[in-house]
Amino acid sequence: PAVYHFENEPDTDFILPANRAWAEAIRDKWQHIGEREGGFSAYPVIGGRIVQRDETVTVIDKSQYHENKRAGSYVEATPEDMAAAIDTAQADPDGWRKLTPHARQKIMMEVAHAIRVARGDLIGIAAAEVGKVFTETDVEVSEAIDFVNFYPYSVTKLAGLTGVEAKGKGVGLIISPWNFPVAIPTGGIAAALAAGNTVILKPAEASILTAYRLCQCFWEAGVSMNTLQFIPGRGSAVGEHMIPSKGIDFTIFTGGEETAYRIIKARPDIHLSAETGGKDATIVTAMADRDQAIGHVMASAFHNSGQKCSATSLLVLEKELYDDEEYKRQLKEAAESMQTGSVWDFSNRVGTLVDRPAGKLAQALELLDEGEEWLLAPDYADRGNPYMLTPSIRWGTASGDFCHMNELFGPVLSVMRAEDLEDAIGIVNATGYGLTSGLESLDHREQEQWKATLLAGNLYINRGTTGAIVLRQPFGGMRKSAIGSGRKAGGFNYVSQFMDITYRETNL
Ligand code: GLU
Repeated sequence: PAVYHFENEPDTDFILPANRAWAEAIRDKWQHIGEREGGFSAYPVIGGRIVQRDETVTVIDKSQYHENKRAGSYVEATPEDMAAAIDTAQADPDGWRKLTPHARQKIMMEVAHAIRVARGDLIGIAAAEVGKVFTETDVEVSEAIDFVNFYPYSVTKLAGLTGVEAKGKGVGLIISPWNFPVAIPTGGIAAALAAGNTVILKPAEASILTAYRLCQCFWEAGVSMNTLQFIPGRGSAVGEHMIPSKGIDFTIFTGGEETAYRIIKARPDIHLSAETGGKDATIVTAMADRDQAIGHVMASAFHNSGQKCSATSLLVLEKELYDDEEYKRQLKEAAESMQTGSVWDFSNRVGTLVDRPAGKLAQALELLDEGEEWLLAPDYADRGNPYMLTPSIRWGTASGDFCHMNELFGPVLSVMRAEDLEDAIGIVNATGYGLTSGLESLDHREQEQWKATLLAGNLYINRGTTGAIVLRQPFGGMRKSAIGSGRKAGGFNYVSQFMDITYRETNL
């Protein structure tokens, strides 16, 4: 059978009048969703059925904090639900594992189309649930469609190799984060399904509604409710009742390092594909296109309120730029122009934090190391909405300072001074992380030097550090950013980690 050609899905151009009207329609549907029949509801989906119960958990729309709006609700999965989901996934009553790679690919192409049709709903629901601006969810939907198209394509390529026998490992448990509530769960589900496994999704508590709408696309398109099951609930309950179960054959996890280490400790016997944190930097040298660099850094640091593993949170300036008062003023003004507020107002570039600042982010907002100052101090937009932290810039961060070494996961950019490129590379490598990294320089020798010595999984030259594109920029880190044996998402060998591969003897 023909293996179709893979192409990346285009994003929406919000400048076109027709698309602006479409965006307004999404707003009309989702901004006040909670006022209509209690909003959008999610349920556990186990053993082929939707589990309805009277007791529900309310989901509040944080982008409308002062109005105390409701976005919807969900039914929490019980330990019994979790056990039943594992039994079903092991039994595979609908025979997903027995399908050929091509048969699975055909169904997944239908899923891709269902996600394409659901683009507006996914944008609206992520706006209500996690306060993500429309344009940011839009690119996630494109990435999700890419994952659903690409992974089956890569499995069919693998299956087509002479002498290779590849089949799914069994049951995959996917634990997905809230910061990319569409793309990351889709990537895990699509890879695990394409590789011939049954799947249980446990989304982050903060993005259960978006994940449910996403799973509806799979179910509508022909992946059964036995093949893909849905567990809304607390991380701790899943840690207690699912991870230890011998019925789980592998896990895909995106989130904090500590959790990744806990999963490994609980299950050293199974494969974990983990994507953990980053402390990503952009270096700007004296050889950069300086204006372009500012644009890239602003988007990488502040879009999605800096809540991306790939976000630039360190800006390392070569001394010529650091000491230039005019450049400093431009940086400040650029950050001030990133208007923060309700995602329902399309002029806002920065939306809502998933939670009030806590942990390291809260610490960074309080603490200034010696010699460090705010170039642009943090504030709260929308009449002091505690979820609407405005972009801020710290100036004069020194080697070893709190903000040099710690991932903050918020809209805080720390600026450091470097003597030269070599010094700058040393500063970046000292973080111990290695996810993404940016270099702004037009000089080829500088680019070569940086590529040869900078330790990160994704290296971007004269481009922002976020928004990896499937197949073009397979995404994944090294060092503290890649715990477990992760392979790059959106790359050709990603699916192979969820398969058992045997090589038949051939006379090649
Ligand atoms: N793949 C995303 C990007 O390239 C980042 C994913 C994450 O933050 O976990 O921006």
